[in-house]
Amino acid sequence: MTDLLTEIEGLEKQFGEEIEKLHHSNEILHLKATYLGKSGHLSSILKKMGGVSAEDRPTIGQKANILKGKIEEECQRLLDSLKRGALSEKTEKEKLDITLPVPELVGYLHPISQVRQEVEEIFVGLGFQVHEGQEIESDYYNFEALNIPANHPARDMQDTFYIDVGATLRGCPAKEGGHTGPPLLLRTHTSPVQIHVMERQKAPIAMIAPGTVYRRDSDASHTPMFHQVEGLLVDEGVRFSDLKGVLELFVHEFFGKKTIVRFRPSYFPFTEPSAEVDISCLFCGGTGNNCSVCKRSGWLEVMGCGMVSPAVFKKVGYDSRRYSGFAFGMGIERMAMLKFGVNDIRLFFENDMRFLKQF
Ligand SMILES: [Zn+2]
Repeated sequence: MTDLLTEIEGLEKQFGEEIEKLHHSNEILHLKATYLGKSGHLSSILKKMGGVSAEDRPTIGQKANILKGKIEEECQRLLDSLKRGALSEKTEKEKLDITLPVPELVGYLHPISQVRQEVEEIFVGLGFQVHEGQEIESDYYNFEALNIPANHPARDMQDTFYIDVGATLRGCPAKEGGHTGPPLLLRTHTSPVQIHVMERQKAPIAMIAPGTVYRRDSDASHTPMFHQVEGLLVDEGVRFSDLKGVLELFVHEFFGKKTIVRFRPSYFPFTEPSAEVDISCLFCGGTGNNCSVCKRSGWLEVMGCGMVSPAVFKKVGYDSRRYSGFAFGMGIERMAMLKFGVNDIRLFFENDMRFLKQF
């Protein structure tokens, strides 16, 4: 028994000497493992316990446990002090005052993303699915399939950015002369997503397509890049009254129950009949009294909508005698401007924290 006790005492002394010399946390962790690890010094001593009489075992066990605790404690103490030393050295170097309050720089969603999310939540709650689509489209999906053929006047209102694929690919040795197809463009609206979804899926369909769109426009109410949400519902027996019901419900959820909704006849190539949706002005309560936002009319235009044109159904191979549907589209910036009372769309994209912090 005395042999083992002497060995343990020797180990303690040896540990004390070795740890004195260490200055790095890696070395300390390594030393700890050499003593306490599975095949470490202490374990090898305890393996000899078999030869010790039953009455002596507790004494040796206790002694070994005390040493184990001591090694653990000693290593931890040194690790902690190294960490503190490193921190104070770093603080000194960077002249960092750790007593200063933490700045309130917690990130949150951009107002446009907040509005997009809110719109999505309302429609998802009504059973609509969300489809994103792609931002680069062919002329076919952006115009043709939506009943906007070449030379259609509606194209002028949606002039966009074209991508000269030929020129792009000419600089790419692997694709030299590979592209002969029609020009690609940045989508001017989210409506092409309707076409993609109808090509892939059979009716019934209830979907919204939120996303980024592009047009060659720039003033207080237009930016070259903005966001839309497109909606489409197709099934047997869908009527204009369904469209009115869904959009009225949406407006009440989004702008409040007291908002009055008005449908005004309009024209879009891909819907027939088509309508603009107006809501009672949120700023003058619909009175129009001296209100510059609604230009004294008492009404604000918020989106376009209509029954899907049979010409569009024909493009995607849907039988328009069996199916009918409605579509609608709104600008997310427009909704955000009305909801938050913002009068210049460009504010959303200037990244001025004084503006963004208000939402
Ligand atoms: Zn007004």
